[in-house]
Amino acid sequence: MSTISPTHEQDVVTRVPKGLFIGGGWRDATGGRTLAVEDPSTTASLCEVADATPEDAMAALDAAVAAQADWAQVPPRERGEILRRAYEAVTARAEELALLMTLEMGKPLAESRAEVLYAADFLRWFGEEAVRIEGRFAVAPNGGSRMLTMRQPVGPCLLITPWNFPLAMGTRKIGPAIAAGCTMVVKPAKQTPLSMLALAQILAHAGLPGGVLNVFTARSAGDTTGPLIDDPRLRKLSFTGSTEVGRTLMAQASKHVLRVSMELGGNAPFVVFEDADLDAAVEGAMVAKMRNIGEACTAANRFHVHASVADAFTQKLAARMGALKVGRGVEDGVQVGPLIDDTQRDKVRELVEDAVAKGARRVVGGPEAIPDEPGHWFPPTVLASVPDDARLLREEIFGPVAPIAAFDSEEEAIAAANRTEYGLVAYVYTRDLDRALRVIERLETGMVGLNQGLVSNAAAPFGGVKQSGFGREGGREGIDEYLSVKYAAIRA
Ligand code: NAP
Repeated sequence: MSTISPTHEQDVVTRVPKGLFIGGGWRDATGGRTLAVEDPSTTASLCEVADATPEDAMAALDAAVAAQADWAQVPPRERGEILRRAYEAVTARAEELALLMTLEMGKPLAESRAEVLYAADFLRWFGEEAVRIEGRFAVAPNGGSRMLTMRQPVGPCLLITPWNFPLAMGTRKIGPAIAAGCTMVVKPAKQTPLSMLALAQILAHAGLPGGVLNVFTARSAGDTTGPLIDDPRLRKLSFTGSTEVGRTLMAQASKHVLRVSMELGGNAPFVVFEDADLDAAVEGAMVAKMRNIGEACTAANRFHVHASVADAFTQKLAARMGALKVGRGVEDGVQVGPLIDDTQRDKVRELVEDAVAKGARRVVGGPEAIPDEPGHWFPPTVLASVPDDARLLREEIFGPVAPIAAFDSEEEAIAAANRTEYGLVAYVYTRDLDRALRVIERLETGMVGLNQGLVSNAAAPFGGVKQSGFGREGGREGIDEYLSVKYAAIRA
């Protein structure tokens, strides 16, 4: 049962502008083209949004280029205050934005609320950072001249975001770009454009000058972003999405040696040592695995548990996973929503079937439990004794499936954790501080959660190594992605 009426759901969708946001105004796509946005929990269409042509996308870049010089001159405090006002507006409208997000993406309302606040935090954080863009002054070591270092906006940016965190993956880029004095074109994922369109409206109301932020939605991502990446006026590409698409974009970006940031896929190991507080580890595992229905780049993809506690951990985790309430995210008490689409659901099913065929033991869930209802459902699933050659130990699952494998020694655990081309985040549970530091230092990831299943924080540098990408979002580092360093040698 939901306390939210279908009329209220429709009202929230109706209030969002559906056009292209270019040069500070809203317009239709050329030829009036539109694309449908679906509710993944019912497969019903929520609404239609503009389907930009490559020419429309180019108009967005034109607007960003035209606004760049003036925007770079706007005082940092003013840029920061626009972000602060946007932060206040997003938090004031958190309920409505959360409902919108749940409708287009499927996650439970409580999680959408958390994402809205997380997203808003990037606006606040970078609003504060706008006034801390500093340089250096030094006497050259030989005393012959003075060295002045300054940091300047990199210029017009293209920001491409995924569907899994429709708002936060946007503000993590938009916040620092605005703070740094860059203009931008944003292309949200076609499955979840509404949160971004609502944000564009909020930023405009917060006083962001026309042309600084431009947003287009499109059925074909490649056809619309390709010409922009090929355009020498574009100075920066920041992408969050799959490693596969990231690779393609990097190849395209090489033509003009475009500056890029890549936040790509993950395959996080969750390592539980024999001295861990097992209940705390299960608690952390639920967060690391089930946040966002498992559709997070930071999701624990595989659990490596010391053999002496593997059975106990498995039983406790299975009891918690099996008790989760699955359903439409807007319904009361629902903890697990649908997956984004059937392609994703079929991939999760295939990975589970592969593991079971190779000898994994299904403890709870599995494809047999998929309800025969509209919506892209997959039940929370725990697999034990997962063999090394199972695909889901190597591939990103992006669903509510927890594969567990046992290890016997610290050395073995570290080797297993690092056995992946990804390197975004790892989770470690141990009460031994010496061991914790030893393991953290040897993990090949950009981030580590020690005795906690959530690392995301606007004040922390988020990002990966290896094929999880490069560049950092959030923290003091996040703004560097949007600044170029200029050094002047001064003889005076
Ligand atoms: P995706 O398929 O790579 O899409 C991401 C974005 O790229 C979407 O806006 C998509 O547009 C666009 N896109 C797709 N093909 C493109 C092309 N040829 N040229 C230009 N743009 C293109 O990824 P996803 O399925 O949306 O998101 C899930 C992935 O994102 C996972 O791998 C996850 O790990 C990763 N992710 C990483 C982080 C991180 O910070 N490291 C955070 C969140 C998610 P359309 O959707 O409109 O086609």
